[in-house]
Amino acid sequence: MKPRHLLIGFIVLLALAPLVLPTFQITLLNYIGLYALVVLGLVLLTGVGGMTSFGQAAFVGLGSYTSAYLTTTEQLPAWLAWSAGSPWIALLIGIALTAAVALILGALTLRLSGHYLPLGTIAWGISLYYLFGTLDGLGGHTGVSGLPPISLFGLVLDQGEKIYYLIWAVLLGAIFITQNLLNSREGRAIRALKGGQLMAESMGVNTFRSKLIVFLISALFAAVSGWLYAHTQRFVNPTPFGLSMGIDYLFMALIGGVASVWGALIGAGVLTMLKQWLQDLLPYLLGSDGQYETIVFGLLIVLLMQRAPGGIWPFLMRLVPARFKQRRLLREQSQQVAALAHRALPEQGQVILEARNVTRRFGGLVANNNMNLKIHAGEILALIGPNGAGKSTMFNQLSAVDTPTSGEVLFRGESLTGKSSREVAKMGMSRTFQHVKLLPTMSVLENVAIGAHLRGDKGIVSSALHLERAEEQSLLQEAKRQLERVGLGDYLYEEAGSLALGQQRILEIARALCADPCLLLLDEPAAGLRYKEKQALAELLQKLRGEGMAVLLVEHDMDFVMGLVDRIVVMEFGEKIAEGLPEEIQKNPAVLEAYLGGVE
Ligand code: ADP
Ligand code: MG
Repeated sequence: MKPRHLLIGFIVLLALAPLVLPTFQITLLNYIGLYALVVLGLVLLTGVGGMTSFGQAAFVGLGSYTSAYLTTTEQLPAWLAWSAGSPWIALLIGIALTAAVALILGALTLRLSGHYLPLGTIAWGISLYYLFGTLDGLGGHTGVSGLPPISLFGLVLDQGEKIYYLIWAVLLGAIFITQNLLNSREGRAIRALKGGQLMAESMGVNTFRSKLIVFLISALFAAVSGWLYAHTQRFVNPTPFGLSMGIDYLFMALIGGVASVWGALIGAGVLTMLKQWLQDLLPYLLGSDGQYETIVFGLLIVLLMQRAPGGIWPFLMRLVPARFKQRRLLREQSQQVAALAHRALPEQGQVILEARNVTRRFGGLVANNNMNLKIHAGEILALIGPNGAGKSTMFNQLSAVDTPTSGEVLFRGESLTGKSSREVAKMGMSRTFQHVKLLPTMSVLENVAIGAHLRGDKGIVSSALHLERAEEQSLLQEAKRQLERVGLGDYLYEEAGSLALGQQRILEIARALCADPCLLLLDEPAAGLRYKEKQALAELLQKLRGEGMAVLLVEHDMDFVMGLVDRIVVMEFGEKIAEGLPEEIQKNPAVLEAYLGGVE
């Protein structure tokens, strides 16, 4: 209840501010609101999605200039004449234009990786900035003046105190939308981007689509801010849309806490106020004019980043007791939640996965040579072999992460050649990772719910407006069920990163199970587990087998494998050297030679 009261108090204060504060302070608050809207987009894009953009100011400019052009040009081209003079129509056109530009820029830049993406955003940020300064009809570097004020329900918002309410209402609306989105299936898919492309895709997330969506939303927030800015100032020129403002926006995000929604507001507030105070105070203190504020400002930022590297909001949140922070995402038991549909498991003993003459070469090295194996429903198969034998390579061929040089893999009778991890996930194959891939600051429950991505279909709009409550509860309930199934039912609302490594591995299994698979691929699941944890894992896998699941595990730990699995395939130098029941493998001279010889 507490956070809700705080929020209501905050909104009341906001509503009263213009009645008590002088105009100058209101102007400052208007700027904070406008900046915060842009920074909110960056929180989504950079903080949550992991994509750094220096180019947001250009989208602000796009929103501003579209409206400036449409509302001031005397003789619009005939095909635009219908829109003349109305800021609201200009807003819609600005949104459409920004969306089109963002989709094109996104399609071009979002596939870039590493440093190339930020560099790409700098490139188009600068290009758009120069475009504003040189396009005919946009007033060059002098800009455009005489923009009309926005009217709303007959009210003309021609003063700072009036447009203030519109700015803050839009910002609060954007915060509402953002928070809803982040706490939804689509939001989890976006958050999953930070767990790595491979993990997200294996859970069935279309990562490119998720990236494009956050890119689009952040561009639209910026454009709406630009529109509001243009009609607050009633004048635009290119200066506030350049690279240096793009950097300022990033700074605001970092100061507030780059991944936190409320941090956007705090970052915009702190940076704006600080600049203002320093501008006023320093010349007075130092007795001479000059741009000292930039230097002092830089120093303050460095200091802040040292004291609170995650930004101010996370720093503040650390002071709040944990019980206030753990939101109970699941509704009370009494409310009936529709269970998700289940996949019909194949009949016991049916071949689920088959490798046919799989060969994988890396240049001259043959990592897998003519490998054949079969996995049946209701069977646990182990793939073992000394280091460098080619197990991980084989795992990648079987899970469609990699494509064989020759031969093929069939999953439920269908060839995996040309299929993506995402498609394979859809067909019922689910996996865990040798090096745990989860989102450490996300709750255990939500981490596991990522696995159920393909079992929901509500999109961005219903997520943003929180109209997907029923489906969301079903997904979370399923995540809870799987966590209870693997024995982590007591940790639903803990941060995943706070679990022991063994529990994190189990969490990954719960996440994989959430996809309702018929084949589970586990990469060294027992690595790093203690004896008790290994026993619990073995029991869980046996239970799953009993339910008709097929399990393939790549494993080092011989003892773990021997007592658990039905059959073993042994590899050495990329080839299968033995296959059979555990007791046969234990006595097989070739295996003893390869395995024990390799260890000694
Ligand atoms: P294992 O998992 O059994 O330890 P791997 O499948 O990781 O073995 O590796 C088998 C062989 O293939 C090794 O010699 C390894 O160096 C080589 N290898 C694996 N992946 C690549 C790659 N992407 N490029 C080149 N060589 C690779
Ligand atoms: Mg390996």
